Amino acid sequence: MTALSSASPSSVHLKRSFLREARRLGASMIGFAPASRWAEYDEVPASYRPNEIWKPTQTVVVLAVPILLPILESTPSINYQEHYITSNILLDQLAYRLSIYLNERGFGAIPIPRDGYGNLDILLRKMPACFSHVYAAKYAGLGTIGLSHNLINAQYGPRMRYVSLFTTAKFKGDPVLESDLCKACKLCARLCPAQALTPRPDRIAGDFDAIACTVYHKQLTAESRFPCGICVKVCPVGMDRKLYGRTRVADYITEQKALEANPSDPDYRHLVHLRTHGSRNGAGEPKP
Ligand code: SF4
Ligand code: SF4
Repeated sequence: MTALSSASPSSVHLKRSFLREARRLGASMIGFAPASRWAEYDEVPASYRPNEIWKPTQTVVVLAVPILLPILESTPSINYQEHYITSNILLDQLAYRLSIYLNERGFGAIPIPRDGYGNLDILLRKMPACFSHVYAAKYAGLGTIGLSHNLINAQYGPRMRYVSLFTTAKFKGDPVLESDLCKACKLCARLCPAQALTPRPDRIAGDFDAIACTVYHKQLTAESRFPCGICVKVCPVGMDRKLYGRTRVADYITEQKALEANPSDPDYRHLVHLRTHGSRNGAGEPKP
């Protein structure tokens, strides 16, 4: 394997060509986190850090693709489920292909799976997954962690999915964002169907009841409309809201009340249509 210092001209050249290739393959955002950042920030338990998982890691490269808001707005639905699955496949392929790209240039590299658990029952018995892409993305300068425990960035709010690859190449790290992007509006906690999020007065990230969230996801899985993503959908942060003309997040509170009163409400029946086709659902169909 080749030795590479993060400041050398060959490192700068490799980073440039890597970025070009990552974008060509479909990554919308790419960040570089030196493996030392996990110890520096000391937030992630030691056995979940890159050097514990793969000792020679020098850099964690994080790749991201967006979740598109109008599809997410139909959640829970088969449309969002398919979108979510496709984003996972794209991310896993990106990390795999870019690991090979680095291998072919003399550097060890391995992809870390996007969703590192077999099924929700396993997750319920043994939380969490072996590696957090959210913390990796934070240390790679791609965003800050919000009340909902999602990573939030200026462009897409929490509507981005992340995957990581570990490499022996010593890339220059991107700066970690120090100012929180979460507005502490608490809408994610208010509209969470599992009441899994509780705001805290002493820090931005709320208390997260991972069991309640996962149990709710088991129900959605049985209905073929997994995952939930309401906390991702309602977050006001993100330029994508302007792109889609969806800056009024109070509409989501209205939506919930209107549909409780009348599932055929003309303003929202398109969402009911998407939620009641292609999956089991609450529209008069017996629960599985
Ligand atoms: S994914 Fe759904 S259930 Fe889980 S925390 Fe977010 S809103 Fe709540
Ligand atoms: S919905 Fe509001 S409180 Fe929740 S993560 Fe987004 S900005 Fe923060």
